[in-house]
Amino acid sequence: MVSGDADPVPASVVRRRIRELVRGGVLPAKPESTLAVPSPGGRLCTACGSAIEPGTPEHETLTRANVRLRLHSRCRDLWMNEAEGEG
Ligand SMILES: [Zn+2]
Repeated sequence: MVSGDADPVPASVVRRRIRELVRGGVLPAKPESTLAVPSPGGRLCTACGSAIEPGTPEHETLTRANVRLRLHSRCRDLWMNEAEGEG
């Protein structure tokens, strides 16, 4: 479902980054409420660090520290997999 054609970052790399972000307390250990909005463009995905293409879904989440994070659909899915899967 997620083609990821415009995304140069391999899933394994994104997963590792997500784990590091979770360990560092940047990302919550598990996805809380996220809101998907069409991206206006020019924003970077927290998980993979690459730009979110204008018009593609941009998943916004607000952490407990009130930091707003933005993720690609794919990166949000990877985050969810990390949260559910192995520690
Ligand atoms: Zn991403």
